[in-house]
Amino acid sequence: MMSEAVLIETSVGDIPQVLDKIRAGFKKRQSWSDFEQKQHALSQLKALKRLFDENMDQITAALKADLNKSEVESIGLELNVVRADIIEAIRDFYKWTAPQYVAKGVANMMDDCYMKPEPHGVGLIIGAWNYPFQLVTLPLVGAIAAGNAIIIKPSELSINTSNLVYDLIPKYLDNDFYAVVTGGADVAQCLLKERFDHIFYTGSTHVGKIVMKAAAEHLTPVTLELGGKSPVIVADDANIDVAARRIMWGKLANAGQTCIAPDYVMCSESVRDRFVDSCKKAAEQFFGKDPSKSSDYCRIVNTRHFKRVTGLMEATKGTCVSEVVTDEDQRYISPALYVGVTEDDPLLKEEIFGPLLPILTVSSIDEAIQFVNEREKPLAFYVFTENSKTFHYISSRTSSGALVQNTVFFQAGINTLPFGGVGNSGIGAYHGKHTFDTYSHMKPILRTGTKMDFLLKVIYPPHNKSKIKQ
Ligand code: NAD
Repeated sequence: MMSEAVLIETSVGDIPQVLDKIRAGFKKRQSWSDFEQKQHALSQLKALKRLFDENMDQITAALKADLNKSEVESIGLELNVVRADIIEAIRDFYKWTAPQYVAKGVANMMDDCYMKPEPHGVGLIIGAWNYPFQLVTLPLVGAIAAGNAIIIKPSELSINTSNLVYDLIPKYLDNDFYAVVTGGADVAQCLLKERFDHIFYTGSTHVGKIVMKAAAEHLTPVTLELGGKSPVIVADDANIDVAARRIMWGKLANAGQTCIAPDYVMCSESVRDRFVDSCKKAAEQFFGKDPSKSSDYCRIVNTRHFKRVTGLMEATKGTCVSEVVTDEDQRYISPALYVGVTEDDPLLKEEIFGPLLPILTVSSIDEAIQFVNEREKPLAFYVFTENSKTFHYISSRTSSGALVQNTVFFQAGINTLPFGGVGNSGIGAYHGKHTFDTYSHMKPILRTGTKMDFLLKVIYPPHNKSKIKQ
């Protein structure tokens, strides 16, 4: 099942040459007319769509080899999101790239005042391994539409996908504008020493800080899509069966290795056992009695992460209420529910990023709110309740990248909603038109004539107080 592919790595010594080529490509673009620039961007979006349409089987095979993702999960949760964004970017391309006229005062009635989107220039996209194809191609859509040239650095941990990105991008996109550099942290650090016009990073908060420090050297703007613990409140009035089904779906997709996975649940003692039973039933409905035999159940990306997750299982003081099976050779960890976890439990300290669900008993919604507010701001916050008042009560008392009622994950599939974190979970946002905005400088433009210069005598020196009184 898990292939032992060898990572194609870019030699660090080749990076300056790759960058010079892409910088020259972007410089060449600046000598083109507006029309030519737009035609080029549109042709690249269409080429990116062809890349998806013609290579779906290869992409899903790479995701299967890296994470044992099923074809349906790969297409549904990873690839369709990108295709939908490409289709929208092509459809709305001229609307997005058009100048945006702004309101004017009497003094500027005769002038032209508008904002013209212009690309930042040469950007760097650094991806993570958990949705490895999506995380480098989804930001690319808006980057291309906005006219940027881009260097992509996929994660070295999802080897098959990294190799495929390295192979496919040059076959479809303009090699003077788009290049793939592959390798690990050393390659990323070498890239980060260079001056980029924008950096888009997806990964851990720890590395996000390294990226931002490096970017500060050149005053490069960053978009940081980071992680953290996304909490869930299951209120007493929640539809417990539906809540359990949706939470377990989100927790077990990609074996819990999703940035917006529900990380831990808070509920009252009175619904806890019912919730646990429903969670167990849901897991069994999804993957059968033995998930290791299900072709839909993913694996942990590598042995280091397998050991990190099983280390949490050993360290917790909570009680495991599932029959747990682990297999290091297969990097397999079965779904595991924990009750009796207390605030200082290891399962409640770091982002789990695995199929473990700790359930913390709280005595009230206020206690749950306090628990969340005493920690870093999460990327997603899920609230299961049938009562709108409870939802709004939580909404106005907490801060998170996104707040979602009665479901998980779907906020990421609505590309009119910006996707991103707040505080420790990230800076900036993307998806759909928001990606185009992230990759554009909205240049304010004022165009005026010279005929009415006599009207400006009031602002030209010499000054006297009577001018102010006017
Ligand atoms: P990772 O190990 O693949 O690292 C991400 C990228 O950072 C890789 O390309 C890697 O080469 C690079 N990198 C690693 N160390 C580096 C260093 N010292 N200097 C420069 N670059 C370095 O992925 P990860 O960090 O394990 O990713 C998991 C985290 O990402 C989780 O916290 C998850 O929540 C978060 N995540 C967030 C989103 C989001 O959209 N907000 C999406 C996916 C994952």
